[in-house]
Amino acid sequence: MLYNIADMNTTTEKCDPGEIEREIGRIKRALLALGTMHPGSVSRQYQVCGKPGCRCMDDQKPRRHGPYHKLSYVHRGRPVCRFVRAECAADLSARLETYKTFRTLTDRWVELSIRQGAADFFTTPTSAGNQGKAAKTDAKRTSR
Ligand SMILES: [Zn+2]
Repeated sequence: MLYNIADMNTTTEKCDPGEIEREIGRIKRALLALGTMHPGSVSRQYQVCGKPGCRCMDDQKPRRHGPYHKLSYVHRGRPVCRFVRAECAADLSARLETYKTFRTLTDRWVELSIRQGAADFFTTPTSAGNQGKAAKTDAKRTSR
């Protein structure tokens, strides 16, 4: 992994434009290196089928069926749940990890972009600006 996520928190206050630009460059390269991904999480489910005489219905020592791997995620505001074949669970887990990395990287990119925007468009009000505002208020007051 080229991009060290652990660095992110220690560098949240960086404001040198060149440094921000370089970090965005690293994020872009890390995104290019990502493999197949999938949103969501997998949980293990055990079930009771309810058939009389089945092991899951045993009075003494019921043994439920499973585990079944259940994938859950929300896409376009809709929750989705799907059962995954056991032999696919490991591959899917790897894709879920990749998706988490993708989100971490894009969240960081957005954060850096907001910082760039703050510097480029929304500089903190200068003392001149404050004086202007105060002058306006005074003008209103005197006109009454
Ligand atoms: Zn059963």
